[in-house]
Amino acid sequence: MTVLSESTAPPPDGINPSRARDVVRALYGRPPLTAAALSAPLLCLPDGDEGQGSLPGSVQLSDVPATVARWAELGINGTKLFAFGHDRDNRASGAVTLGNRMIRTIEAVKQTAPRTAVTTEVCGCSWTDHGQCVLRTDAGEIDLEATYNLMGTMAVMHAEAGADVVSPTAMLDGSVAAVRRALDDEGHRDVGVNPNLAIHTTLYGPFKALMRTDPRAGHRRGLQLEPGRAQQDTILQARRWTAEGADSLTLQPVMTTGDVLVRLRDDQRVPIVAYSTSGEWAALQALGPAGMTEYLAMLVRSGADQVLTFAAQTVAEYLEASRA
Ligand SMILES: [Zn+2]
Repeated sequence: MTVLSESTAPPPDGINPSRARDVVRALYGRPPLTAAALSAPLLCLPDGDEGQGSLPGSVQLSDVPATVARWAELGINGTKLFAFGHDRDNRASGAVTLGNRMIRTIEAVKQTAPRTAVTTEVCGCSWTDHGQCVLRTDAGEIDLEATYNLMGTMAVMHAEAGADVVSPTAMLDGSVAAVRRALDDEGHRDVGVNPNLAIHTTLYGPFKALMRTDPRAGHRRGLQLEPGRAQQDTILQARRWTAEGADSLTLQPVMTTGDVLVRLRDDQRVPIVAYSTSGEWAALQALGPAGMTEYLAMLVRSGADQVLTFAAQTVAEYLEASRA
């Protein structure tokens, strides 16, 4: 009889039984990524806009049904909508005009794919002539009351058109509470509020160029989180958002903030969407579908409940082909 050694280390024979047999690997394993973890951004552009197709999901309104039908067929159950504002002024009036491009996009998605969860961007920057997310007073200060009012009205209009979740993206403190209150007052208590945790980055570039949302003067850094303090500030901001009534959160970008995602997951129990932004798509193309899949799987392992990514269709098609 062998006496057990004090060491618990297995003998160095080169075999690890929990990995050696394929039936055991299958028993203990789980797929690192499925299409159900993916959401796709949908950017609705004016008819004939030359930017169509420059990012996956950048289409004109008449192409929305075919686009979301394909996503639903692949098992992509969520989309986040952005609309190019055509008539822009300094009060973002187009954002709260009945039948605007966002409203028609929401309706088109829900008519085609009623089981697709629709999240909408609620922000001024696609609709202001100065390209800023917020409205300003004549003196140039943020007009808080008017901005809250704009965002609350947008949210209610999106909810009435069929949106399931609205996403105040401007990172303006108080905006989540304003949107939550506006939804509740109009009887949309079951519509979710998912604000942004946006860290300053160059990885927003292609989206801003396509949607023409770069502020004409200055930048929006005062409303974004600073990269050097991102771990601490993201957690503080997440706590403020949930205190204001957020029931889920979006972190962006994610290619350069994996550490922040892990810390945020440890701190928060609400669903977290990891938004792999437009500049990430540009970088991801060198990886190809297999490499993109590994990258998105890392985001899920790091704690994302959903990954919002321009690579959603490419990766879902790759996953489908890998199963076949
Ligand atoms: Zn904005």
